This record gives sequence, C-alpha cells and structure tokens, in this order.
Amino acid sequence: MPSYTAPVKDMQFLLHDVLQVGASGIPGYGDLDRAFTGAVLEEAAKVAEEILTPLNAVGDREGCKLENGVVRTPTGFKAAFRTLSEGGWMALDAAPEYGGQGLPYLMHTVVNEAFVSANMAFNMYQGLTHGAYSAILAHGTEEQKRQWLPKLVTCEWTGTMNLTEPHCGTDLGLLRTRAEPQADGSYRITGQKIFISAGDHDMAENIVHLVLAKAPGGGEGTKGISLFIVPKLLVNPDGSLGERNAVSVGKVEEKMGIHGNATCVMNYDGATGWLLGDLHKGMKAMFTMMNEARLGVALQGYAVAEAAYQNAALYAKERLQGRDVTGAKNPEGPADPLIVHPDIRRSLMEQRSFVEGARALTYWGATLIDRAHHGDEAADGLVGLLTPVLKGFQTDKGFDMAVQAQQVYGGHGYIEEQGMSQFARDARIAMIYEGANGVQALDLVGRKLTADGGRHVMAFFEMVKTEAKAHDADPRMAAFTEPLKAASKALQQAGMFFMAEGMKNPNAALAGSHDFLHMMGHVCLGLMWTRMAGAAYAALDAGTSDRAFHEAKIATGRFYMARQLPACAMHLGRIESGADPVMALAAEAF
Ligand SMILES: Cc1cc2nc3c(=O)[nH]c(=O)nc-3n(C[C@H](O)[C@H](O)[C@H](O)COP(=O)(O)OP(=O)(O)OC[C@H]3O[C@@H](n4cnc5c(N)ncnc54)[C@H](O)[C@@H]3O)c2cc1C
Repeated sequence: MPSYTAPVKDMQFLLHDVLQVGASGIPGYGDLDRAFTGAVLEEAAKVAEEILTPLNAVGDREGCKLENGVVRTPTGFKAAFRTLSEGGWMALDAAPEYGGQGLPYLMHTVVNEAFVSANMAFNMYQGLTHGAYSAILAHGTEEQKRQWLPKLVTCEWTGTMNLTEPHCGTDLGLLRTRAEPQADGSYRITGQKIFISAGDHDMAENIVHLVLAKAPGGGEGTKGISLFIVPKLLVNPDGSLGERNAVSVGKVEEKMGIHGNATCVMNYDGATGWLLGDLHKGMKAMFTMMNEARLGVALQGYAVAEAAYQNAALYAKERLQGRDVTGAKNPEGPADPLIVHPDIRRSLMEQRSFVEGARALTYWGATLIDRAHHGDEAADGLVGLLTPVLKGFQTDKGFDMAVQAQQVYGGHGYIEEQGMSQFARDARIAMIYEGANGVQALDLVGRKLTADGGRHVMAFFEMVKTEAKAHDADPRMAAFTEPLKAASKALQQAGMFFMAEGMKNPNAALAGSHDFLHMMGHVCLGLMWTRMAGAAYAALDAGTSDRAFHEAKIATGRFYMARQLPACAMHLGRIESGADPVMALAAEAF
C-alpha cells in the first residue's frame, strides 16, 4: 500500500524563508515563528501519517453505503473523524468566539495539505463544513451565527453545499428547487439536488445543508436565486436536536474515485429552511463558499500528486529494470533501479517541480486571502484573478502528475493492490467539481481579466516584472528571471490578442481560454520558482547547515524553468491561431 510522509521541511521553507511570515506584517502572522509552526506541522504530520493514510485504501475499497435511509462511511472513518474533531484540527482558523483557534487561514491551508495528501475523500467532510462555516460567518445574522457556527467549528455538525440539479450544473440560472415563504419567517424547500458531497453520513449528529433555491419574485436566471440553511435535523430553541427535517438521501452515487466520500442525491420535500444572506442574492452568498472551496480544490490538485510522487520516487529507487546507458549503477544486481533512466527522471522531475511550485502558489494565495480578510483590496483583487488559475491549472496538472506517478509503476500501477490507481482516480474529480476547468478558463478570460478595468491583471504583470528585476544583479538567477520575463511577455501578448480579436469575434478569445489559463499557471509557477530560488540562494550564501535541501530546490526550479515554461510559447501559438481551427467544422459534422 502507498505510504505518505508530510513534507514538513518544505512547508517550513515556504512559510519562513520564502513567505517570511513573521516579517510580513499580516495581522495574526506575528506569532507564527519557526518553532510554533514546526510544532503544529509535526503534530499534523502524525495525524496524517498515522490516522488518515491507513484509512485511504479502506475508504476506496469499501466506499459509502446507503442502508435504511442512512449513509454508512467506511470502517474507521467515524473514529478518525472524532479524533480530529477532539484534537481541534477542524477549527484551526475559525473565530475563537465560536470555538475556533483563531489562527490565520494560511495555517489551515498548510495543515489541510497534509490531510488531503493522506486521504482526500475523508478530508472533504471537514472541507465542506469549513465552507459552510465561512458562508454563515460572512452572511448570517447574529442569531444564525450563534445557532450554527459552534457545532460546525467542532464538526459535531457538518456542512454541505447544494447547487447542482439533474438538468443544471454550470448553468445555475436553470435551477428548479423552490422556496416558499412561511408565516413564521422560514421557507419550505422543495426540489432535488444531485452529486452532493458529504450529503449524508454517520460521523456527525447533524448536517447543515446550504441550498440554492428560487423564492417568489426574484425573476429569471441566477438573479432569482437565494441561499437557505436547511438542517437534516431541526434544532430546538434550547439548541438540542429536534425532529427530522423533510430532507432525505435518494441515492449514493457509484463513481470513479473518492469512494470514501458520500456523493448523494438529496431530496427536499417541503423541508424547513432559513434564508442566509439577502433574498435573491444567493449566488453572492454561495460564492463566499465556492471561492474558498475552489482554493481547497486547487490544493487537492497538487496534494494528491504529492502523495503519488512520493511513492513513485520510492518505487523508482527499488524496482530493478534495465541498465544505465552510461554504465551500470548496480553491477552486483541483475539490473539497475528505474531511477537511473533519464525518462524516469524526467517524469519524477515534472511531478516534483509541479508539486513544489503549486504548493508555493497555494500558500501565497492563502496569504493573499488573509490580507483580504483584513481589508486589503489589492490582495482581494489578486485572489479573484488567480482563483480560476489555481483551480484550473493545479487540478489539470495534478491529475496529469498522478497519472505520471502511476506510469512509473508500469503495469503494477494499473493493478489496484498497489494503490497508485486510486491517486489517479481521486485526482480526476478536482478537474470537474467547483466549476469544471473549462468554465474556470471562461471565468478567467471572460470576466477576471477585464474586472475593474483590467487593474488586477496589470498589477500582476507589474509584480512579475518588479520581482524579476530585483534579481538583475545576481547572474545565478538569470536561469529563473529570463524564462519568467519571456513567459510573462508571451502571456501579455496573448491578452493583447484577446483584446484585439475578441472585440470582433468573442469565439477568438474563448477558443484560447484553456491555453491562456495554462499559460498563466506556468507564469505563476515560474514566479514561485523565482522566489524559491532567491530564498534558497540566500540560505546557501548565509551558510545553511542543510546545503543539500537548498541545492535541490534550485535544481528542481531550474528544471521547471527550462522544461516547463517553454510550454507558454506553444500556448501562445495556439491562442493566436484564433477561433477558426477550433470552430471550422459545423456542429452537424461531429
Ligand atoms: C463526485 C462529485 C461531487 C460533487 N460535489 C458537489 C457538491 O458537493 N455540491 C454541488 O452542488 N455539486 C457537486 N458536484 C457537481 C459538480 O460541481 C458539477 O458536476 C460541475 O459543476 C459540472 O456541472 P455538470 O456536471 O452539470 O456539467 P455541465 O454543466 O453540463 O457541463 C458539461 C461540460 O461542459 C462544459 N461547459 C458548460 N458550459 C460551458 C460554457 N458556457 N462554455 C464552455 N464550456 C462549458 C463544462 O466545463 C463541462 O466540461 C459534484 C460532482 C461530482 C461528480
């Protein structure tokens, strides 16, 4: 079975050498010194390695089962969920007034990475609860916050998000679930939702469903949508659990991966619900949950790839096949280990350089969110711009890398017993949910590039330029800054092409949206590698006791710049070919 070791040293390097959290001036970061974050991460690593990793294959094998109207989670999930809840792991960044530990979102993100790498399906129960917590915190009344948040913070109650219906996923304007106002201020919710993650299970006393529905008077399309809190069990005025609400599980879906997470059809048959946020402004409220969820999914992309990579690297060092073309490395043995072969190295370097770059991007994104939480508008704008990039790029690449890790195992990677297939199957969903990746690209090109007159994307380009320039005096950094400048220039050229051609024919921009998202992903990772290389050189210059670690960072970054950033030229070529090659065939010809 696959193993997992939380990369605490890499996490610490990012927090302290690259992001320099202690000196960042971000409120709440002053206490995050090396000793404190190290202690938290060592404990999180134990939970991930000793509790969650062993349950990953169990969850995959057993899946979730609907028995007499109740969903049963795999063996061991319930006890592990209780252990994590009691250990306070669900509430790291929740507000202390609701029982949380009040740490920055960044710390939640870093810890979350270890838990997702260890067991993505399990961690989703907590992840969705965190999303529900954030939505109620941002949009709930004081009474709603008091009623729902403390139990969500401890995960005694868990949360879900209910958008998708059989006939609508991307196009939520089509949704049919209805909300009828009642004399007591509540609503009766009627409709069917499908594919609801963690929709039901046996690990929490109650489940707080956040449900999008249409209330009378809201008009057509997404404008008429409101968001409702619909609990599985009604809650009495004294806080105790009351009778069962009219919400039930129709079915638990059989699916490709994340078997340990219950994906449910949910039937709302006149269930009692309460409006969350403003009437007919449900999309806005749901976006609080979805933006956070998208960053969580972006993290899933590289976190699963990290676990897959670790195993591929171990296997490549053990499996004996063929000889090193430059001379035997294991002359006493029947063959050399796989790792001597350049193509295996290429694959491992692709995986490693992606994972480490994406980790840096995700943590930096978390610092922007923490800044935005404290009213930093520029950071907020940057998060809005980068969210589709993180979600789309990191999950596309995360899946590719999980497949590459599987490939290192040859035929053994295809056999379930080895566990490598689970990584590929689990990683696949991240490209689909929280807005399929095609729609992320659409969001980036159609909305985010031009948001606020293009202010945020201009600020992004300026930041890349300034950071590259800051290393001009150090010739060692040219291997990073030169490719970064070239890739950023190509990205700007693609943006200009959209502006010029998109006015004449919107398809010209949309046909290139996927390529643009990937180009921007590469530029972001190029920027991250530039930052990491700068920090690694600084550590070497200062006489670090761990030269091998910092030299490996630089070598891995050089690989990314030399072997991955050139993809930007290909993406630019595709973009500048416009819509014609894509749209040449009539729909009837397919
Ligand atoms: C395992 C699993 C868990 C899920 N969990 C949840 C959950 O907890 N809550 C929830 O509400 N939903 C959940 N979903 C639903 C998921 O978010 C949707 O499946 C997803 O948003 C896509 O919607 P759809 O399946 O209806 O596809 P469609 O909307 O039919 O889209 C099909 C394809 O067309 C593309 N497309 C659509 N419109 C456009 C366009 N205008 N331009 C270009 N391309 C377009 C999409 O990118 C996609 O590739 C889950 C799904 C799965 C499989």
